[in-house]
Amino acid sequence: MKKPETGAEEFLKSWRLSEESKRVPPCQICGNVNAPVYFSLKGMNVYRCGQCGLQFTGLSGSSSSVTRRFYGETFFEASSSACDTRSYYSYADRRKAVMKNVKIRLNHASRKARKGAYLEIGCAMGFGLEAAKQEGWEPVGFDISRFASTSAAKRTGIRVESESLKKLAENSRGKFDLIAGFDILTHMTQPTKDLEHMYNLLAPGGVLLLEEGITDSFAGRLMGKRWFHYIAPFHIHFFSRSSFRKILENVGLEILEESYLQRVENLRELVVLAGGLLLPKRAKGAISQLCKVLPGKLSLRYNSMSNLAVTARKPPRAG
Ligand SMILES: [Zn+2]
Repeated sequence: MKKPETGAEEFLKSWRLSEESKRVPPCQICGNVNAPVYFSLKGMNVYRCGQCGLQFTGLSGSSSSVTRRFYGETFFEASSSACDTRSYYSYADRRKAVMKNVKIRLNHASRKARKGAYLEIGCAMGFGLEAAKQEGWEPVGFDISRFASTSAAKRTGIRVESESLKKLAENSRGKFDLIAGFDILTHMTQPTKDLEHMYNLLAPGGVLLLEEGITDSFAGRLMGKRWFHYIAPFHIHFFSRSSFRKILENVGLEILEESYLQRVENLRELVVLAGGLLLPKRAKGAISQLCKVLPGKLSLRYNSMSNLAVTARKPPRAG
């Protein structure tokens, strides 16, 4: 049976009243069960592990079927509902920007990876898969969102899976030369388990390229608890540079390179992001109005000094 989409604000309201919201989940990296509350994000506790530095919300103790319901149509196309959900104003308008970003990252990874089978996890509407195909890769997509995965497959004709990484890893073990994901571990309730599936999906010597927001990056330190990666309830795990390394090494991957890469983003998405961070709630109507007059496809190239791209390799002799 198809479960209904859950709006973010609606979910947070019921979460604050739930018993689960008071339980401290174990740290996904070191198993510490006594992480103290670091701060409250829209009424949701953010814990900070004193042993490894990983930060996480209480949702890290949930199953992915809870979070799957966040990623319905309104997550990708928020313009009709409001500018305050921290969803995308219009994901569809980001096509060119996403394609450019993925090409920059594929180019970066291809110095280390054999060109061949490519899996993008969190492929959303499949723009990155299109870019990969243009660059000569054989792409497959995965996205937990039924809305996104269905529309990606329909629009591109590329194979897009949505069931679970566990199932995909059972069916396609050792098949991929390169696996990439951009801002994906942060959305996962159990990133260590999902990384084990990614490891199993990689061919021996295959490369994993992940890009995640980093709490002790320049932007993370500058903005503190107002950092733009603290988005409840969507973002669940928040990595420091060392905890990001640690979670990858723990599953047997060898770190090859770490870099802050340039990114391209639509002006309108940047306006919504900056407005949400800097302006009071009552200014949201003005942001909406401004977005209506800004050209949807105008984009900027910048380096946020916030998201770290890490390339890691599965040992060539691994099974
Ligand atoms: Zn820990």
